[in-house]
Amino acid sequence: MSKVFNTTTSLKSELDNYRSDSKTIAFVPTMGGLHAGHLSLVDIAKENADIVVVSIFVNPTQFGKNEDFDKYPNTFENDKQLLDEKAVEIIFAPSKDDIYPQGTDSDINLGEIANILCGASRPGHFEGVVQVVKRLFEIVKPDIAVFGEKDFQQLLIIKQMSSQYFPDIEIISHPIVREADGLAMSTRNLYLSTDERRFASKLYQVLLNAKQNYLNNADIQTIKNKATTTLDEAFSLDYFEILDANTLMEITTNTDKIAILCAVFLGSTRLIDNIIFNKG
Ligand code: AMP
Repeated sequence: MSKVFNTTTSLKSELDNYRSDSKTIAFVPTMGGLHAGHLSLVDIAKENADIVVVSIFVNPTQFGKNEDFDKYPNTFENDKQLLDEKAVEIIFAPSKDDIYPQGTDSDINLGEIANILCGASRPGHFEGVVQVVKRLFEIVKPDIAVFGEKDFQQLLIIKQMSSQYFPDIEIISHPIVREADGLAMSTRNLYLSTDERRFASKLYQVLLNAKQNYLNNADIQTIKNKATTTLDEAFSLDYFEILDANTLMEITTNTDKIAILCAVFLGSTRLIDNIIFNKG
């Protein structure tokens, strides 16, 4: 059975015990609403450390004013059962006051990478993400931390922050886990109606097409025009970009990995997805 800790103090003292026994600690931060994508991160964590800590905390500072903070799914009992089945040692489910004892104000500035793509449509989002991940890293002090490529921009931003403030923490990433029809697993998929859910897999089809066209040497602007037209007919388009996967900037002659990234609205649900591949 996973042990549940709701306070920073109790968690820290438990982890100190493990550390004094020279156990290594892997950390998987989540907002709950767990699915097989999260569980794949847990598997990687288990393979790479003695003890796994999974946090479940819906971080208010990464949600915009009109976003879904108030209705974000809370499935704690189910999450706990899934983590029990994975034999996760520790679940950390803190309160907001425990995470932010001095309040939520922060002066984090992440530069341009946080202002493009999801950062452009969700101002302050990545600053909130970095604020909570920094705080969680300070509390858990893991040897490794595992993140999903589903949130690819977030992954790059966290790697950047971590190399600056926590150079000893190894960041490991895991590819996107998908439903049978290709839809990237997401807690927010719970918001979709039956019809919307059926329709949602079209997003991945557009990404796959764009990748194929890129590999067939089609012109980037032409691929983008085609994809954005298709996506805008099917969904309400937020962005569709083809970029250097290491920098999230324009592709150059030095680019070795490509990222095709997109975000759309289906009804009021925002879906994001991406494909990462070698330039070839
Ligand atoms: P969240 O609970 O949405 O904040 O996600 C917690 C972690 O799970 C993040 O590192 C996500 O990138 C990762 N994650 C979410 N969905 C998936 C997925 N479908 N495949 C792989 N990782 C995922």
